[in-house]
Amino acid sequence: MSLCDLCMAQVDRPGHFPPHAGLVKGATIRTATGGNAFVYRCEFCGEAMMLYAADDDTPDRWTPLKGEPGR
Ligand SMILES: [Zn+2]
Repeated sequence: MSLCDLCMAQVDRPGHFPPHAGLVKGATIRTATGGNAFVYRCEFCGEAMMLYAADDDTPDRWTPLKGEPGR
């Protein structure tokens, strides 16, 4: 897998950083901590990015999603 430049720039950005032009919103996943994770698919490189917070005290963050998204 290889993220395109726009996705690379997205990684580890805080949640208030808007998704780049190629990111299309997909599933919303319920996390173990009871929060929501938002999955975005990139139309440029085909990789998925996830926007989520690890726990309530952590601000949400952009993270590359490796492999297929879980449920
Ligand atoms: Zn991309």
